[in-house]
Amino acid sequence: MKHRLAPNCPRCDSNEDVKKITYGQPASETTLEMSQDGYVLGGCCIRPDSPEWYCDNCQESFGSWRESWGEALTDQIQ
Ligand SMILES: [Zn+2]
Repeated sequence: MKHRLAPNCPRCDSNEDVKKITYGQPASETTLEMSQDGYVLGGCCIRPDSPEWYCDNCQESFGSWRESWGEALTDQIQ
């Protein structure tokens, strides 16, 4: 599976260190942890307003699942 091209970070305007945040796995409540495959673990629960991307350069998380999934799927997970 090819990785989706990461968007530019709104803070530093670069996507070189932008990682996709993955949910459904245990992670610390207060810190984002990097998994071995380069993904960021965002916690065990996903919400409609959970960020989709994380910039390792400036620790900014941005984007939302609502934007990429659309309204229909958002309704299913609420
Ligand atoms: Zn950044």
